[in-house]
Amino acid sequence: MRKRKVAVLGATGTVGQRFIGLLQGHPWFEISALTTSDAKAGKRYGDVTPWHWSGEMPANAAGMTLQPTSADLDAEICFSALPADAAEQWEAALAKTGHHVFSNVKTHRMDDDVPLLIAEVNAEHMHALEVQRRKRGWSGSIVTNGNCSAIGFALAAAPLHKTFGIERAVVTTMQALSGAGYPGVASLDALDNVVPFIAEEEEKMQQETKKFLGTWDGKRFVEATFAFSAHCNRVSVRDGHTETVSLTLRGSPSPDAVKSAMRDFRGRPQELKLPTAPEHPIHVRDGRDRPQPILDRDTERGMAAVVGRVREDPAMGIKYVVLTHNTIRGAAGASILNAELLAAEGCLGN
Ligand code: NAP
Repeated sequence: MRKRKVAVLGATGTVGQRFIGLLQGHPWFEISALTTSDAKAGKRYGDVTPWHWSGEMPANAAGMTLQPTSADLDAEICFSALPADAAEQWEAALAKTGHHVFSNVKTHRMDDDVPLLIAEVNAEHMHALEVQRRKRGWSGSIVTNGNCSAIGFALAAAPLHKTFGIERAVVTTMQALSGAGYPGVASLDALDNVVPFIAEEEEKMQQETKKFLGTWDGKRFVEATFAFSAHCNRVSVRDGHTETVSLTLRGSPSPDAVKSAMRDFRGRPQELKLPTAPEHPIHVRDGRDRPQPILDRDTERGMAAVVGRVREDPAMGIKYVVLTHNTIRGAAGASILNAELLAAEGCLGN
């Protein structure tokens, strides 16, 4: 596979920095542009970016000159970690000028011709791009990731929906601070505290999950129909969203049958052996006090969902805990995997 030029939009932010880290040494993609708000355009990335992750800022990125986001970037693929207002302005404009945009932003997620993709879960939704190109006349495209908590829920629940069928689900999230971007939640609000509200989060989880676990019928998305309720909380954890999940599944399978469905789950990325794909998308742990963010969030380089405490729920049938790394599996890593999938499937041209 030849190397494709990629741009990171919103490169100075929390997710933008993750993209830069994950794209180092990528076998198919090389960074050709980093974009920022107008105020920092023209400056060296390394001079104006406080690096938030462990290890040194990659030297190639540090030396690059930041560009304003524009529709004529020298890149085939644009990984978008923009704030929503900037995404509104630029993502469609970039698709129109031939760029393949892989977005982490809410702006286009629920559009009726835009795939909301988890590469292992609903790869067939990529066929919506044929409708998108026809309808909008774009030579490029937009593919989106979901909200970071919705990705965690849907990845672990996908084999259960496929194998048994979900009738109803209730999830309570404990979401990391990095999910709010940088500087995010003020330290005096975050420390020693749980904040039981994250703007728009419950609505996004409830809507996006139905699209993820629904189908593409060749013309339109058909949403999953089970009843779903999300409670979203911000907790004082740096990275990694933990979710407690209670489900009613058709046929009332046992905890062992649920664990087997999760452990056996594989998708197109595993079949195609994509560079960013985890070997096992879901790891099921038997320890009674796992998963925990500080112990489990980096499983398979942060690309696996880690499930534990699968047991009977006297009210709903089955319950468990799932943990995903929000800036990797819930954002930058998921986007890179989506781009690898579409490149491997021939959807991005030769
Ligand atoms: P963030 O830390 O606030 O970073 C956003 C960055 O975009 C900032 O560094 C900002 O500042 C830059 N920016 C602003 N206007 C721009 C423009 N016109 N062109 C290019 N860059 C611009 O936020 P984040 O957490 O990385 O989130 C980015 C997007 O991903 C958001 O839409 C968010 O909802 C979504 N998301 C985040 C997560 C997560 O876990 N954090 C997960 C899933 C999705 P400067 O350019 O001025 O430095």
